[in-house]
Amino acid sequence: MSTQSVVVIGAGIGGLAAAIRLAARGLQVRVFERAAGPGGKMRQLQVDGQAIDAGPTVFTMRWVFDELFATAGARLDDHLRLQPAEIIARHAWSADERLDLYADHERSVAAIGDFAGAAEAEHYRAFCKRARAAYETLEQSFIHASRPSLIGLMSRCGVSGMAGLRGMRPYDTLWQALGEHFADPRLRQLFGRYSTYCGSSPFAAPATLMLIAHVEQQGVWLVRDGMHRVARALAALAEGLGVELHYGRGVSEIEVTRGRASGVVLEDGERVSADAVVCNADPAALSSGRLGAEAIAALPRLPASRRSLSAITWGLVAHTEGFALERHNVFFGRDYQAEFDDIFRHRRVPREGTVYICAQDRGEGNIPSGPERLLLLLNAPARGDMQPFDASEIEQCERRVFSLLERCGLRVARHPERCQVVTPRDFEGLFPATGGALYGPAIHGWRASFNRPASRTRIPRLYLAGGSTHPGAGVPMAAISGELAATSLLADLAST
Ligand SMILES: Cc1cc2nc3c(=O)[nH]c(=O)nc-3n(C[C@H](O)[C@H](O)[C@H](O)COP(=O)(O)OP(=O)(O)OC[C@H]3O[C@@H](n4cnc5c(N)ncnc54)[C@H](O)[C@@H]3O)c2cc1C
Repeated sequence: MSTQSVVVIGAGIGGLAAAIRLAARGLQVRVFERAAGPGGKMRQLQVDGQAIDAGPTVFTMRWVFDELFATAGARLDDHLRLQPAEIIARHAWSADERLDLYADHERSVAAIGDFAGAAEAEHYRAFCKRARAAYETLEQSFIHASRPSLIGLMSRCGVSGMAGLRGMRPYDTLWQALGEHFADPRLRQLFGRYSTYCGSSPFAAPATLMLIAHVEQQGVWLVRDGMHRVARALAALAEGLGVELHYGRGVSEIEVTRGRASGVVLEDGERVSADAVVCNADPAALSSGRLGAEAIAALPRLPASRRSLSAITWGLVAHTEGFALERHNVFFGRDYQAEFDDIFRHRRVPREGTVYICAQDRGEGNIPSGPERLLLLLNAPARGDMQPFDASEIEQCERRVFSLLERCGLRVARHPERCQVVTPRDFEGLFPATGGALYGPAIHGWRASFNRPASRTRIPRLYLAGGSTHPGAGVPMAAISGELAATSLLADLAST
């Protein structure tokens, strides 16, 4: 029997994970990536001669990657240097309101006690229990399930799991649930921010998203030499298994023969046939026709109103003073509701938005003595296909960002030539048909997670992998989606 062949469109984390799993099972895999290297959103910018991670910076759920390496007969620790972060993140509301969360649960309890009082520290304990229960209930029954459906979830949960599901109160919003735990609005804001990890508003996301808090408590790792290393390590792992990786070669069309995906046409006109196709490009590219007229039928089109968050990011090399930055830092705006109303209701950049800073030369005890590499991120509406985000708009936004940082005591001596700004418009260019949405559809309302595209599409032999599909956004979830796509594909090929 001849070896079955698969084309993967895109070398993002989901595409690479699918390619590794398929090659490990003996399939012939070719990956076509339009960018010059692997990683997709996990990319780097060159600023002032230095490489800055410009996408994901918080590495969680390392066990997903341990398992992926093991699938290929390798060990993650032989390919990547990971160090558990002692301080998960430093949070600030003003010059004298700061709170660190730690990997050590009891240290976090004590820090919350000092910050907001003993009662809130106890509330935090209860919140952690609830977040853990949410994670444990959903891990096998939902996250690893190939198709997100309520009925499937209920049947996999069983009777005891159903009680757990009801206990999570999935019809409440995350913000409401947090109100039951914390009296201090700052803590509500801190834990509500986890919904933004999947591009959603805490005021509309279901309470179940508190499971992200549990994921972070299970560990945040610092990747030596930057997150982009993860993508490169996965690409090397794939190549070691015989996967052909073709960079700078975009796919313009998915071919469908007798109702089944049968290959792709590259932007240079070359045709590549295959027994199956895995699409790691955003599903919006399929349904908008960017991958050919036939692929439009693969899944329903996502209305722009249901897109998740985009972002404006600043990659800089700069001197900082006045605030002891950690690796991960969050500077909160004063009015959280207004911030998300601005983005999701008024569809504009928030007037005072929360700013995340990844200080990439810090952590592991390092404190840079000179200019340091920073990535600043402000959430923004995914309107990169409708709005220019021109220089004057960015300048205005930048003034507000840096004045919030100064209010919290941080001064950043920035030079325009040592700074690269990326807007939703740029993200739209990198990830076509998304408007710059970085996390697929927003998870707003309890049904939203069930409506996410699954690994199988309506076109047989065409599969989806990536952070815009089930089980969700983020680096480990994208890797799990790659596993789900590979599992579905292998099962379908085996059944014929
Ligand atoms: C600024 C930012 C910060 C983030 N922070 C975090 C974080 O801290 N922690 C975390 O876990 N997650 C974070 N995320 C989310 C995380 O990066 C993503 O969920 C994950 O990397 C998505 O992977 P993916 O598999 O969907 O592929 P993507 O990264 O979306 O890559 C898709 C690939 O497909 C390619 N492609 C598209 N169209 C074509 C075509 N026609 N032909 C060929 N190739 C094509 C693209 O070039 C791209 O390389 C962040 C994302 C961003 C942007």
